Parts: sequence; structure tokens; C-alpha cells
Amino acid sequence: MSGFKLGGMTLGSVFKKPETTLYPFEQKVAPKGLRGHVAISPETCILCGICQKSCPCGAITVDKKARTWEIRRFSCVQCGACVRSCPKACLSMETAYTKPATGKSSHVVEVPDTKER
Ligand code: SF4
Ligand code: SF4
Repeated sequence: MSGFKLGGMTLGSVFKKPETTLYPFEQKVAPKGLRGHVAISPETCILCGICQKSCPCGAITVDKKARTWEIRRFSCVQCGACVRSCPKACLSMETAYTKPATGKSSHVVEVPDTKER
């Protein structure tokens, strides 16, 4: 690369908008379809366990007796297999990433008993 071309590129970058953002004060808008984290609508879950069986990482545990749906977010690789396999379409992929944490905690969601309502 010639010195002239390199000089032109350097000078051009001085006047261009920076490629980086001042995170966390300035945050980029997540593109549509970004696989951030799995979310559940527990009201429609029937605790069938298909999501647990379809997860290649064993990140989901469905406890029918305790009426809980659990995900270990730091084991999840955001493949979306559970979302695609859920027969009740109660799982979705939200764009926000799992927040950083010091421990590998899991997220337990209580599934309400629709028969009690
Ligand atoms: S989230 Fe969907 S696939 Fe998983 S247990 Fe509930 S209904 Fe079944
Ligand atoms: S997105 Fe993939 S890895 Fe994450 S819980 Fe669902 S099936 Fe498992």
C-alpha cells in the first residue's frame, strides 16, 4: 500500500463517525432476529418437557411435579432448538443478552396451574 493511500485513509478516519460506541452509556440497537436469550410465557406452558429433550446442552429442566421450568443460561448456546420444538409456542428468543454474573445460577420459572383458575 502506498504511503499516499495510507495517509488518505488515516485522514479520512479523522472525519468519520467512530466505529465504536461509548458502552454502557451508548448502546447499539439489537438487530432483528438476534438470539439473545430464551424467554418463556409460563401461562401457556403445559410442562410437556419437549424443550428439555430438544436442548443439545441440557440447559433446560422441566419438573412437572413441582410445576417449574428452569434454564441454566450459561449452559445455553442460543441455538433456538427449544423455541422451534415447543408445541405451545410459549418459548421465544429475546434480543437482550443474559447479564454478566459471577456464578452460574439458573432461572426457575413457576408454571401456573390453569385448572386452579
Ligand atoms: S416450554 Fe413448551 S416445550 Fe417446554 S415444557 Fe413448556 S410447553 Fe413443553
Ligand atoms: S436455545 Fe438451544 S441451548 Fe439454549 S436452551 Fe434452547 S435448545 Fe438449549
